[in-house]
Amino acid sequence: MTNSQEAPCHVFLVCYPGQGHINPTLRLAKKLAAEGLLVTISTAVHFGKTLQKAGSIGAGDCPTPVGNGFIRFEFFEDGLQELNPKDVNLERVVNQIELFGRPSLAGLIKNQTAENRSVSCLIVNPFLPWTCEVAKELEIPCAILWVQSCAVFSIYYHCFHKSVPFPSELEPKIDVHLPILPLLKNDEIPSFLHPNNIYGVLGNVLLSQFSKLSTPFCILMDTFGELEKDIINYMSNITPLKPIGPLFINPQNLETEVSGHCLKAEDCVEWLNSKPPQSVVYVSFGSIVHLKQEQIDELAYGLCNSGFSFLWVMKPPDDVYGLKGHVLPEEVMEKAGERGKVVQWSSQERVLSHESVGCFITHCGWNSSVEAIGNGVPVVAFPQWGDQVTNAKFLVEDYGVGVRLSRGAEANELISRDEIVRCISEVMIRESSGGEFRRNALKLKQAAAAAVVDGGSSHKNIQEFVDEIKKRCVRGNFE
Ligand code: UDP
Repeated sequence: MTNSQEAPCHVFLVCYPGQGHINPTLRLAKKLAAEGLLVTISTAVHFGKTLQKAGSIGAGDCPTPVGNGFIRFEFFEDGLQELNPKDVNLERVVNQIELFGRPSLAGLIKNQTAENRSVSCLIVNPFLPWTCEVAKELEIPCAILWVQSCAVFSIYYHCFHKSVPFPSELEPKIDVHLPILPLLKNDEIPSFLHPNNIYGVLGNVLLSQFSKLSTPFCILMDTFGELEKDIINYMSNITPLKPIGPLFINPQNLETEVSGHCLKAEDCVEWLNSKPPQSVVYVSFGSIVHLKQEQIDELAYGLCNSGFSFLWVMKPPDDVYGLKGHVLPEEVMEKAGERGKVVQWSSQERVLSHESVGCFITHCGWNSSVEAIGNGVPVVAFPQWGDQVTNAKFLVEDYGVGVRLSRGAEANELISRDEIVRCISEVMIRESSGGEFRRNALKLKQAAAAAVVDGGSSHKNIQEFVDEIKKRCVRGNFE
């Protein structure tokens, strides 16, 4: 970049510190940069350091070229080092990030103007609802990147507006009837909305986002029209939605050295190459879920007894909450031999797109769900909490791409090795003879691919969004 040429439009993305957030944020950033925008991704400093340590992003703040534009990173203060490690809990972390992050983020954004990169649009994250207020105070147009499904968006929306009864202290066990959506059994609404849920603070954070929905001019969603047609149509009449997913599909093959991995991904491709098509069970519980050791034991025996090959991501827990790492029963790995591979972290997008993968045992985080669908891979749904339980319902009952193995952590059930074998076999054996799960998944894969190519529904929405930003663009000089 030569000195003092006209700066590209600058979009500033604020990301909640978490793997399930940085992935869609970075994927969106790449698409925006490809259109010639300068994109800054800003997240809490402790998380930025994690990304740097994993080698996913550079240590300096040099913009990385992507397509016709650039991506760069800046971190806001989070005050987490001030917390006493003995009494760290989720609520303290959330409050501390707001307390330190609010002034720090506002300062960072103001600095952009001083440095001739005035921000034309802020794209914020619903798990940091205060960022909408920062945008309002600084009078910068703001959009939200919603990183869950539209169905889940509608559930939170109706809960916030109290338009239908939700479980409460008085009636904790009721089911939920919402417009357009199928009946949601009590344990199928996002678990953060249950009274006294241990992660209820996150439910309150998300509900608080709905009190600020008049600020954003647009709500971008990592979903696609063909997947959630009816609920997208319905909610579009109420809020300014733009489905722009699946963001993980990258038809332009944008190459950059920037990635969002919090841990270095181990190479699994060579091992997968050695297996026949559709013969491997891929197992991952995402970045946060931590199963009990006895459930890990059952899963290990279930995978081994199923007779199929398996690739299992066993991510070590983050230090913060004092959780213990899992141990695998030794005899299981001995018995499985070459049939089993365990890694700490994979490049999941590459794994799911590999022809050897026959099914995905997933915790049903929204990113994992969309990645499974977008790759045409059937699932064994093993949700724990949050929107995972809702996504599991939709994967199994609405999209028809698999079976359900668990009803979530609140059921407090140990899923037995025999049940695990039964579900794996149902998906793997039925599917090898061209079963309906894979057929449905492949249809959705095609629809997903069609949505993101030139002229597709999600592609058009991104184009409209970029045009809107360019109209609002405040240009300075870019050094
Ligand atoms: N992921 C990955 N490698 C792994 C496990 C997960 O790259 O070994 C990625 C996965 O592709 C997804 C993200 O991590 O994009 C997890 O997000 P998700 O919403 O599925 O779950 P969360 O971690 O937020 O619970």
